Amino acid sequence: MGTIVEYTDEKPRLNMYPKRIVSPGKGKACCARKMEQIGGIEREGERLYFYRRCKVCGYTVRHFLSAPPPDPAGGQWEDGLNYLLKLVG
Ligand SMILES: [Zn+2]
Repeated sequence: MGTIVEYTDEKPRLNMYPKRIVSPGKGKACCARKMEQIGGIEREGERLYFYRRCKVCGYTVRHFLSAPPPDPAGGQWEDGLNYLLKLVG
């Protein structure tokens, strides 16, 4: 378990999702607008997240979905999870 992202400025950036991603150690100005989702929703414990990677510099972060989806059908956790999975396809 754990992240597949390696942060280093000493190796060329790499996107071998879902096995491995090499990201620069820090984001830059480009990241604010050029981040795109890669892969689907993943789960760590009770938290859901997906990876976002900058098209320009390769900077990658895990984007956690902190809030439950609005009005999940039955109010159950699994319903919320299914709802999210449908959202991202
Ligand atoms: Zn960037």
